Amino acid sequence: MEKSAPELAAGAIRQKPEAPFRESARAVDLTAAEIIVSVGRGIKEKENIGVVEELAKALGAEMAASRPICDNGWLPMERQVGSSGQTVAPKVYVAVGISGAIQHLVGMKGSKTIVAINKDANAPIFEVADYGIVGDLFEVVPALVEEVKRVRG
Ligand SMILES: Cc1cc2nc3c(=O)[nH]c(=O)nc-3n(C[C@H](O)[C@H](O)[C@H](O)COP(=O)(O)OP(=O)(O)OC[C@H]3O[C@@H](n4cnc5c(N)ncnc54)[C@H](O)[C@@H]3O)c2cc1C
Repeated sequence: MEKSAPELAAGAIRQKPEAPFRESARAVDLTAAEIIVSVGRGIKEKENIGVVEELAKALGAEMAASRPICDNGWLPMERQVGSSGQTVAPKVYVAVGISGAIQHLVGMKGSKTIVAINKDANAPIFEVADYGIVGDLFEVVPALVEEVKRVRG
């Protein structure tokens, strides 16, 4: 057997060790959330999502969405509620600008209290809602945020 002893200066090694493997931040577990604020196509544009995020922040809630929002990439897929998303049953589910299609309802109808904000009084979401606000979300949501902040101090 031939022995060789190559001389390798540390500086000649070009491959650097990678950073140690770390698990990525845990994917959001909506099933553990006590309060969920969920946004639908009524929000119209990605740039408007912040309006609803403000409400989630004020309530200490997780954000969720209907399928078109996630399909558009406005929120990550893991936040989709419904038959092809997560099934959730929080204490409070606030549906903002969501019509209440059956594929969405099956994912959230087990929620203890459902609050719906929709400008269409005939939207099916009101059939499962405990509290309904018929109005323009762009007026209702900021007003709610103000009120939540006032009450919570
Ligand atoms: C096989 C299959 C699987 C599916 N899986 C899912 C699923 O997992 N989850 C899911 O959510 N959907 C799913 N869908 C899609 C589902 O059928 C609906 O298309 C979807 O839920 C509609 O989303 P939306 O309520 O956000 O939008 P829309 O139905 O377009 O409703 C938007 C609502 O916003 C209201 N609105 C508009 N402007 C305002 C305003 N300024 N203020 C207040 N309200 C306003 C409107 O009145 C309307 O009710 C699936 C469909 C199929 C075929």
